[in-house]
Amino acid sequence: MNSSLQLGKIMGIPIRLHWSFLLIILYIAWAFASFSEPLFGRTYGFGAIEPASLRWTLSLVFAVVLFACVGLHELGHSYVAYKSGLGIKSITLYFFGGVSAMQEIPRDPRLELQMAFAGPAVSGILGIVCVLLSDLAYIGYEHNPVAIMLWTLGVLNLMLMAFNLLPAFPMDGGRLLRAWFATRMPYITATRRAAGLGKMFAILMFVLGLFSFNFLLLFVAFFVYVGASEEEKATEINVSLEGIRVGDIMSAQVRTVNADMTLQELKELMFQEKHRGYPVMDGEKILGIVTIADLQKVPDEDRSLTRVGQVMARKLYVIAPQEEASTAMRMMSELGIRRLPVIDSGSLVGIVSREDLVRAIELSSGQGF
Ligand SMILES: [Zn+2]
Repeated sequence: MNSSLQLGKIMGIPIRLHWSFLLIILYIAWAFASFSEPLFGRTYGFGAIEPASLRWTLSLVFAVVLFACVGLHELGHSYVAYKSGLGIKSITLYFFGGVSAMQEIPRDPRLELQMAFAGPAVSGILGIVCVLLSDLAYIGYEHNPVAIMLWTLGVLNLMLMAFNLLPAFPMDGGRLLRAWFATRMPYITATRRAAGLGKMFAILMFVLGLFSFNFLLLFVAFFVYVGASEEEKATEINVSLEGIRVGDIMSAQVRTVNADMTLQELKELMFQEKHRGYPVMDGEKILGIVTIADLQKVPDEDRSLTRVGQVMARKLYVIAPQEEASTAMRMMSELGIRRLPVIDSGSLVGIVSREDLVRAIELSSGQGF
């Protein structure tokens, strides 16, 4: 989260830039500068006074505009979501494209179809407009740098559209495919089928990449394979937790500890009870949570002198029993924690852990992970 820079807000959605993005902008600028050197050379190359600084400035502008196009692609998706009232938390522009973090997955195939289609549609329109404009710019004189820039931008936008329409997760084409399947079968079956096709596609690309020594293709194949598996898993989890509330799966019997307990005592308690974390209480009031990870930070010899209150996490994330189990799952994975105290009208009523969620998933889907 800290590795990205907020640029501003559009439609209330924060637009962020991942640090890897700055590297890729420089790389694109360099690639464009090298690619356009012979072309620009013909216009400005008067022997020794080839204006390299001009070429570099234009290349940098080119790289920034190209990634503004990637941003517009993402905004295309977001606009449809925004119009239908879906929450988009942020858009982060990464190494090779953008990621829109959605608050919820649309479970409506028609909406997903429109959302998935909007991004490639934006790229396609940008591509065509840039190519047409470059034609106009060429009329002025041959090897006009603006025409070269526009033409390259147009082609890259069309490539971005084509790449995103690959029928595989996590590309838009994979989502289109799933949405199309989902209009005629249950969502989970549709996801499995789309993910299966995506994996087959990835294997095909991998074999092709291997025989043609194309490393970029190998990389994309890997990316697609992992993306398909992750999408499948995430959907299975969401679907199997559907309708289950935190109160149904939490452990109501909560063992708590006091802040003045020593870490030595805590360690013995953890051994005895085989628990990995405890809420820390002061009477009825919850002060924090202490886990095995907090214990491990303190060397063995200092444990009888250190108290729970000194090492516990005071920043407390809690959940209500009537919340959906999938919300607990999302909170834990986003925050990187393993358990959440369950609070009902101010008092601790239970604790829900990853193990509880995994058990619920296994019981309702009849399979393990
Ligand atoms: Zn997209």
